[in-house]
Amino acid sequence: MDTTPEFPTLSIVRHPLVQHKITLLRDRRTPTKIFKELVDEIAMLMAYEVTSTLPLAPSPVETPLERTSGWQVSGKKLTLVPILRAGLGMVEGMLRLVPGARVGHIGLYRDHSTLEPVDYYFKVPGDAAERDFFVLDPMLATGGSAVSAVSSLKRAGAERISFISLVAAPEGVRRFAATHPDVPVYCAALDRELNDQGYILPGLGDAGDRLFGTR
Ligand code: URA
Repeated sequence: MDTTPEFPTLSIVRHPLVQHKITLLRDRRTPTKIFKELVDEIAMLMAYEVTSTLPLAPSPVETPLERTSGWQVSGKKLTLVPILRAGLGMVEGMLRLVPGARVGHIGLYRDHSTLEPVDYYFKVPGDAAERDFFVLDPMLATGGSAVSAVSSLKRAGAERISFISLVAAPEGVRRFAATHPDVPVYCAALDRELNDQGYILPGLGDAGDRLFGTR
């Protein structure tokens, strides 16, 4: 994973398979079915990276031959929180690596005239302070939805939160870090800029529409 001094809270997953799949995702000719599969696969690969610092506790194990030392992931309970609707595309891929994780949901949509998030649904496990949260949204664009989702989680008591996206815009990373400097952000690509409709350039278009075929 790469970090850059300009964006101290951001880590970019540079794994070759992730970069290869992100390029396929950007391609305007990629059909919905393949787009969905790619988001799922990239989310799984990102889960591998973002869980690389989870604490381990010793866990001895009996092999068919003898007893030996082993390890198990310890510490806080994991919770995935997709931001509806595009974040849903990342859930199954991540669950494949952390099948015991709970799944909360945050419903936000972006008002196309103000570009600000409008909140319509919030449901996460009750013991928020005991949990490690991974907030999922493929696109970190203006940062409005990300800021709002993480603020809602903090109000619910969450103390340890990471934000996982696939493609991020510099404007969104900066805005998010200004409000939530304590929340690490992961992405697979840091793109050039936002256009005046709030789309990431070069980006991949509307992730929700491409995932669900609603274009
Ligand atoms: N949301 C998307 O789906 N795509 C963008 O480029 C920006 C926000």
